[in-house]
Amino acid sequence: MRNTFPRGGIHPPDGKELTSAQATQKLPAPQLLYLPLGQHLGAPSQSIVERGQQVLLGEKIAESGGKVGVPVHASVSGVVKDFTTTTMPNGTKSLTVVLENDGKDTPAPPLRRPQREPEEIAPEEIVDFMEEAGLVGMGGAAFPTHVKYRLPEGTKIDTLIVNGAECEPFLTCDHRLMLEDTDDLILGIRLMMRASGATRAIVGIEENKPDAIALLEERFAGLPQVEVKKVKLKYPQGEERLLIKAATGREVAPDELPSKAGVIVNNVATVAALGQAFRTGMPLIERVVTVTGPGVEKPGNWRVRLGTPVEELLGAAAWRGTTTLLAGGPMTAPAIFDLKTPVTKATSGLVALDEKTQQAGPCIRCGRCVQACPFGRMPLYFGPYLEQGRLDELEDMGLLHCRECGCCSYVCPAHRPILQTIRLAKARIRNRTREV
Ligand code: SF4
Ligand code: SF4
Repeated sequence: MRNTFPRGGIHPPDGKELTSAQATQKLPAPQLLYLPLGQHLGAPSQSIVERGQQVLLGEKIAESGGKVGVPVHASVSGVVKDFTTTTMPNGTKSLTVVLENDGKDTPAPPLRRPQREPEEIAPEEIVDFMEEAGLVGMGGAAFPTHVKYRLPEGTKIDTLIVNGAECEPFLTCDHRLMLEDTDDLILGIRLMMRASGATRAIVGIEENKPDAIALLEERFAGLPQVEVKKVKLKYPQGEERLLIKAATGREVAPDELPSKAGVIVNNVATVAALGQAFRTGMPLIERVVTVTGPGVEKPGNWRVRLGTPVEELLGAAAWRGTTTLLAGGPMTAPAIFDLKTPVTKATSGLVALDEKTQQAGPCIRCGRCVQACPFGRMPLYFGPYLEQGRLDELEDMGLLHCRECGCCSYVCPAHRPILQTIRLAKARIRNRTREV
């Protein structure tokens, strides 16, 4: 049997042919950059700069705001022009440092890091470096990477899984990165194995990327502890728990962390970003973003400075301007309404779709949403129960363990907005918990 997860899942048209063969282009840094202090999960970062202050490329401009947090660094050299509030890709607001680019890219002194082979560095030094470099999960979660690696006493990790599945339709930034940033990816794998104690690494890649699979198999030839696992093309194969199952056969209970199963998972972009930061001493100041969909004339992948307004990228891709614009893959991403929204550490793509919003009809109890759910949920009940305020029953049904993959919404013939309902219900339950 091919490597995959056992139940549910879907096969949406993937649209990746628009950009998968295109080499990554560099987008020039714009005149003004907007660096949000709340672009990761956890406590917002605390600014340490003042209006009018000169900053260098890679200089720290905000300290970590708490244990679950990371610093933010200048993505150009220039001047702190202002502080403002920006709309984040998920629609929330964040206090933001506005930088005026001087066009010189004068670098700050590189981050200090041990000049030794990864296998000779103390794990804590690598984890501290992850924090100093401002690393977060770049597959969309934006969870501070160093927090994941500060493992509770007694936790034993044997396997690092590098998530190169990239199962969301249209996105190809991770695919290009595996082809183009292979040296940094390998360095990042070695560092993360050392930091976690893992004795093997598995790079999980969907079978629709044969060139990346072939290249990495060739490059890993001298690294017997690192392997490529070709996984079946099925959405949401890149979901953390489903990838663990496909790559190792291990199950992670809904209320447990992957570390309980001896596994730690990172997206390929995060792993390569660690390798790049360690090689250059430059913290996380840029990322690769796919800009694509039928609503742009020049789809492609761009290496972009963090804080670049999305309108700059849309200009480069010749956006037609009249389409729905999503901040990420179409299965899960929210729509963007403010073109000044900046590219953040977790922005993997901008997808411009021509589709019109379909009018939702009544549920016909066809059960397709139940069949499609990889996690055994009963999505057809979520909407009615929420309307009736039956939050306890929603909790009992495991709503909080829904992984928000969007399969149920995708297959619903009545076009019911199930994923939005789930997100609303989760927020209501969490707010209620906070109020108690
Ligand atoms: S797929 Fe849609 S119509 Fe069918 S049972 Fe689920 S919610 Fe109802
Ligand atoms: S969004 Fe949640 S309920 Fe719907 S298919 Fe995915 S995991 Fe299941």
